[in-house]
Amino acid sequence: MTDQVNLYLRLPEIVSISTTVLDTKSLLGNLAFATSENLVRAAGGGEPTDIGFIQTESGHTRPFNQSAKFEGKVWIICNGSFDLAAGDRVSIHIDTNHRGRRRRLHTAIHLAIRAAINHFGFLDVHTAEISDDATSADITAEASRQVRQSDIFAVDRAMRAYVIDARPVRAVKAKSVELAAQEYGDLFRISDRHSLTGKIRLVCIDGVDANPCSGLHHQTTNIGAYELFPIMDTQSSNSFRVRIKLTSVWTYWY
Ligand SMILES: [Zn+2]
Repeated sequence: MTDQVNLYLRLPEIVSISTTVLDTKSLLGNLAFATSENLVRAAGGGEPTDIGFIQTESGHTRPFNQSAKFEGKVWIICNGSFDLAAGDRVSIHIDTNHRGRRRRLHTAIHLAIRAAINHFGFLDVHTAEISDDATSADITAEASRQVRQSDIFAVDRAMRAYVIDARPVRAVKAKSVELAAQEYGDLFRISDRHSLTGKIRLVCIDGVDANPCSGLHHQTTNIGAYELFPIMDTQSSNSFRVRIKLTSVWTYWY
């Protein structure tokens, strides 16, 4: 069977494509199918799946809000069963608003973590997750000392300075974690959660940060309006827990 060509990492701006169905499967009564050219990024790395709709050659449209990665391919999952077979032409349309918000939030996560590392001198990141509807992202981490409200303001202020700067955000390949650490020095960070071997994809923010990541990112640090606030359910001393929420306008500035 022909291999699937993934376009979402190299060409995240492409949000519609007409392509060929490679294979179909029934998954718990729903139809899963893989296409020869794939635009859909499945969930992973703290990022929810792309959502959107498909259109068959006969003009029928179906939404999708699930995908899965198995057998070396990304499979789009549509609710219910319908007539679709290998060799059929189908057009895939990604929800551009959902993807755009995810990209903004993913870049925002990098900026917030970098700002926090610079502020505290150390940060042990536990989780960084974008919500399924891509309206907010939560970061949970442990700092080296007690975290106060004033620390969160300081991190937010530093993050906003990056936003105004509109620095380029680029994905580059590195031959290994060790070589990336040598090349980027203090800008390089890697979470202990992951043990990466071999070639890695690095997301580099000019002069700010370099971090292995397989997500889709906003192309500059100018991610637009957001709010950053502590998640109030925990007041444990050293825990740094914040939510980044995208907003349509700036609601405050320092
Ligand atoms: Zn990322």
